[in-house]
Amino acid sequence: MTHETEMALAAPLVDLRGKRGLIVGIANEHSIAAGCAEVFAQAGARLAATFLNTKAEPFVRAVTDKLGCELVLPCDVHEPGQLEAVFDAVKAQWGGLDFLLHSIAFAPREDLHSRVTDCSMEGFDVAMNISCHSFIRMAHLAEPLMPDGGCLLAVTFYGSERVVEHYNLMGPVKAALESSMRYIAAELGPKGIRAHAISPGPIKTRAASGIDHFDELLAEAASRAPEHHLVEIADVGNLAAFLVSDAARRITGTIIPVDGGQHLAA
Ligand code: NAD
Repeated sequence: MTHETEMALAAPLVDLRGKRGLIVGIANEHSIAAGCAEVFAQAGARLAATFLNTKAEPFVRAVTDKLGCELVLPCDVHEPGQLEAVFDAVKAQWGGLDFLLHSIAFAPREDLHSRVTDCSMEGFDVAMNISCHSFIRMAHLAEPLMPDGGCLLAVTFYGSERVVEHYNLMGPVKAALESSMRYIAAELGPKGIRAHAISPGPIKTRAASGIDHFDELLAEAASRAPEHHLVEIADVGNLAAFLVSDAARRITGTIIPVDGGQHLAA
């Protein structure tokens, strides 16, 4: 963590005291979801988090124990019933929910590494299911737990709009995620439930290591971004905390880049 990051974390920008948030997507301390959870906790939110399986659990607990998460539950969105069980547990613990962060993505290696033109039906199906439809399911399950409104966040990438070399299948999947987010924001807006997609620049995480030549993406981001800085997970966390806070109550349906301005470059 850089000195600048420590300074940013030392003084939370927003007040999330009294808010209850569900974080799906912590794999380890380097996860974008871990960076967001840390800022949420610093701002006073009460948190529930999930781990993918027993292999991942100790790495997730290393993060959640430090942050005092009140619930830490198993959740593989591809396993029938697991996501529903998480929302049941949240309802039993808190009676409601104020925000959630969907920070998960997956594509089978072979499909991720091939051209979109060659992607298999099965690979496309799994990638869409885990990386996009799970957000729709979370919105569906969160709606009854948010009678006084709330906020739903997903994490996307610029490869949804532009062709980013080696991003392949995840490009169309993120485009679908972003579009789903917009429809959800429109449909749930009358209930005071807001939705956003945060679009970070490249960050070295476990999921990112599955993308071919990811180091080249990092080097390009650092050279093209006007600030010439790579994004850190705390930068994503600061935006996420603002978006779920009451300070952002009239903002919904947006895709906000946290990329040091990389999206400006032609
Ligand atoms: P990460 O590996 O730390 O997190 C990915 C998470 O997805 C893991 O916690 C993993 O357990 C979870 N996941 C995968 N399959 C799952 C399933 N079946 N059920 C439940 N969870 C499952 O990597 P990350 O980079 O923090 O990724 C988080 C999000 O950020 C993803 O949506 C990713 O596409 C997005 N993103 C990442 C970058 C980047 O450069 N790292 C940039 C833009 C967007």
